[in-house]
Amino acid sequence: MSDAPLPTSGTPTVPGLVAPQLSADPAAGDTAVGPRVAVIGGGISGVAAARVLHDRGIEVVVLDRGHRIGGRMAVRTLRDTGLPYDGRVVDVGAAYLTATGAAFRTVVDSWVDRALLRPWTDTFVTAGPDGRVSVVTGPLRYAAPLGLRSLVEDLAADLPVLVHPDAVEDVARVDGGVLVDGVSFDAAVLAMPGPQALDLVAEDDPVVAVLASQFYDPTLTLVVAYDGVCWEPFDAMFVNGSALLAVVVDDGRRRGDLAPVLVVHSTSLLAARNLDDPRSAAPQLLAALTAVVGTTADPAWFDVRRWSLAKPRRTLGVDHWFDGAIGLCGDVWGETSKIETAWTSGDALGRAMADRLLS
Ligand SMILES: Cc1cc2nc3c(=O)[nH]c(=O)nc-3n(C[C@H](O)[C@H](O)[C@H](O)COP(=O)(O)OP(=O)(O)OC[C@H]3O[C@@H](n4cnc5c(N)ncnc54)[C@H](O)[C@@H]3O)c2cc1C
Repeated sequence: MSDAPLPTSGTPTVPGLVAPQLSADPAAGDTAVGPRVAVIGGGISGVAAARVLHDRGIEVVVLDRGHRIGGRMAVRTLRDTGLPYDGRVVDVGAAYLTATGAAFRTVVDSWVDRALLRPWTDTFVTAGPDGRVSVVTGPLRYAAPLGLRSLVEDLAADLPVLVHPDAVEDVARVDGGVLVDGVSFDAAVLAMPGPQALDLVAEDDPVVAVLASQFYDPTLTLVVAYDGVCWEPFDAMFVNGSALLAVVVDDGRRRGDLAPVLVVHSTSLLAARNLDDPRSAAPQLLAALTAVVGTTADPAWFDVRRWSLAKPRRTLGVDHWFDGAIGLCGDVWGETSKIETAWTSGDALGRAMADRLLS
């Protein structure tokens, strides 16, 4: 199944990334000599899978419908806020990462060695709806000075990546492989939440049963910028017993520049009620933030972002699915939904796929 070449030249869509064309033009010649895999989804799980396949000599292309890869390890650049720290980035998806497994630790150590990641904190404040309750310690949390997305981009640095507007619409099985929007590959990786992957496959595809059993809860993320720090210092807060707030992070302390910026992740309950108009939840979120954190000044700027599929309600235990043509990976594939799980899942799928395709 190698009838379409994947040119590796073109204008990179993201600095440092190679941007190929997804071409089905047979006139372009058949230069591929081995198996080819389409990785759909440029979050950390998809890029981890692509990394393994590429390193094992398999021709691979990563396709993502976003403007940049990174998926839920997303950042927002502050623009037109009028604040002195305008232009800095804020993590608006995942808040931090932890590393427990030896394989992921190796990747994390490499990021730390190159100052893409830094040990941040092992101490969180716990709070209730009316304010602080206690302090807890736990695993070391790592933060990325350039935002967590920069880690995914680093992992993908020499991989062929096609981003927005190339949203994939169709993955169909054919004899000996798959067609991805009409282009043939030996196999495809669907590295995204089940509800998104369901849109790509036929109703009678064997993966439908696996994908249809995945349910994700939503979250709203409020980014609030101030003229100065107007709260008692903390790194991050877990909020219990609130119908509105789940986690509050001091982004200045996380990023290390001490800019007075807070990031608030809502409960899924509040998000579900405001998915159509996330900004309408801002007054409730801001009032709850004042009560929980004790801010003493009004915000200078804020915005709200919606995550329709933030977190799987239930994880699947096993780390990936692969049936010879279609592979599934992501943060639902493991024990706990988090960055390390997503990376581990993509890495495991990449290895299983490479073993099969090269055997
Ligand atoms: C608000 C929030 C807070 C979080 N906090 C933490 C935390 O503190 N620590 C932690 O470890 N984890 C956290 N997480 C979870 C973590 O972000 C995820 O576990 C991880 O990033 C998932 O990676 P993934 O590759 O599985 O999926 P994703 O990152 O969702 O990647 C899927 C990709 O697929 C692409 N895609 C979807 N459909 C298509 C299509 N048709 N065509 C092309 N591309 C497509 C999307 O654009 C996306 O880039 C948080 C998540 C959220 C939302």
